[in-house]
Amino acid sequence: MKALAKVTNLPMDTGVSGWDAILSEHAPAITLEENQLCDFLIIGAGFAGLSAVRRLAQLKPAARIIILDAKRVAEGPAGRNSGFMIDLPHDLASSDYATTHENDLKQIRLNRSAIAFAQSAAEEYGLAKEAFAISGKVNGAVGKKAVSHNHTYAKHLDELNEPFKMLDSDAMKALTGSGFYQSGIYTPGTAMLQPALYVKGLAQGLGNRASLFENSPVISLNKENQNWVAKTPKGSVSAQKVILATNGHIESFGHFKRKLLHVILYASMTRELSADETHLTGEKTWGITPSDPAATTMRKISGTGGTRIITRNRMSYAPDMKITNARLAQMGETHITSFAKRYPELSHVEQEYLWSGRLCLSRNGVSAFGELEEGLYSACCQNGLGAARGTLSGMAIAELASEGETELAREILSEENPQKLPIAPLDAIGVRAFMKWSEHKARHEL
Ligand SMILES: Cc1cc2nc3c(=O)[nH]c(=O)nc-3n(C[C@H](O)[C@H](O)[C@H](O)COP(=O)(O)OP(=O)(O)OC[C@H]3O[C@@H](n4cnc5c(N)ncnc54)[C@H](O)[C@@H]3O)c2cc1C
Repeated sequence: MKALAKVTNLPMDTGVSGWDAILSEHAPAITLEENQLCDFLIIGAGFAGLSAVRRLAQLKPAARIIILDAKRVAEGPAGRNSGFMIDLPHDLASSDYATTHENDLKQIRLNRSAIAFAQSAAEEYGLAKEAFAISGKVNGAVGKKAVSHNHTYAKHLDELNEPFKMLDSDAMKALTGSGFYQSGIYTPGTAMLQPALYVKGLAQGLGNRASLFENSPVISLNKENQNWVAKTPKGSVSAQKVILATNGHIESFGHFKRKLLHVILYASMTRELSADETHLTGEKTWGITPSDPAATTMRKISGTGGTRIITRNRMSYAPDMKITNARLAQMGETHITSFAKRYPELSHVEQEYLWSGRLCLSRNGVSAFGELEEGLYSACCQNGLGAARGTLSGMAIAELASEGETELAREILSEENPQKLPIAPLDAIGVRAFMKWSEHKARHEL
């Protein structure tokens, strides 16, 4: 008898995500407790998995589709992120920009097709504006270097014929209520999500077109006769085709070993602000990404759970994808300082929630995408822009698994494969040194 492919490492996220905690509705989970048969099994209910199911249901309305997640929907990274579904590439300000111009145009087109797909889901499922709205974002800058970085960014936006608006320090103060930022660039194409509300809406919207089982971790995946069989602690699913949409945990299934970098990011959310406190924080909602990606992302939200501010910064390299409570608490200290630097008059406001989440990167910035073995597909490793890229990978893998090499699937397949990492422990030494240097460089914007 063939040995079972055991899943050796199950997802674990430290801290409670504020995005999910502030929601008023938490429907009970349905767990897999029997043996089921289907045409398509999707493992992982994040951006990639849920988008794959939606696309499959569009292409194969009669197919039996099952989706399994180890946790509740929105408990994983898709419900723990900062909610920027970004259309523009991150590194438009890089100095070797000229060589990447064509690639940037391609990435923008692909990211926008993912945002359009998410928008059509939000409209079809009647999601609230706070769950999904294409309201744009601002790239904020503090310090001489950051301001000049933003100017380079603006120049490249011009070359790409992309609309943007420069904001001076007064405009940044009017937007955020904070005197911290010296300038900013507003670009209109980013969709701003309440990520937990969005992914839960996506899951609910699927209705009876797919069966979702939560708290049902896949602990082994094996081919038996013609079918793939995924086992969970209390049941199993036998499927003709399986899509792995497990982000960095594709490695726990034995694929892309030593090709993926597992990074932990951290975020905090304040308690609900009072009316007087809200008054000091500018417009009703806003989202600021830092001019240096290693610095602080900040958002103001207003809706379910009241008005709150979310701060995201710091990162750790975690090859086992796990982080301790002590490490989380340490990172939370930086959030308190970053918030107080922007809002000294609100430094008494507690951070009610503090959490961490996983980000999967590859050395050459590409996804772990494609057919791995007959009937087994991967839509994993979304790199920096996971909300858009995860959605895109999900759409494309659904097309590949059901229709073959469509135009979209071909575009993703034409990218390189993830490159091998240097031999351990050189990889960890190198990545940690790089992160330390990046955070040091970004210290004025932290
Ligand atoms: C604090 C933070 C802020 C971020 N901010 C942003 C942002 O603003 N914009 C952006 O684009 N990206 C952001 N990201 C990154 C983004 O969240 C991820 O890139 C994105 O969630 C990846 O989507 P995915 O669907 O591929 O994977 P995930 O969202 O990780 O979904 C994978 C799912 O697979 C499930 N799974 C894993 N193993 C198993 C198993 N054995 N059995 C069953 N299920 C399993 C997990 O439980 C999980 O739900 C941020 C991340 C963090 C942590």
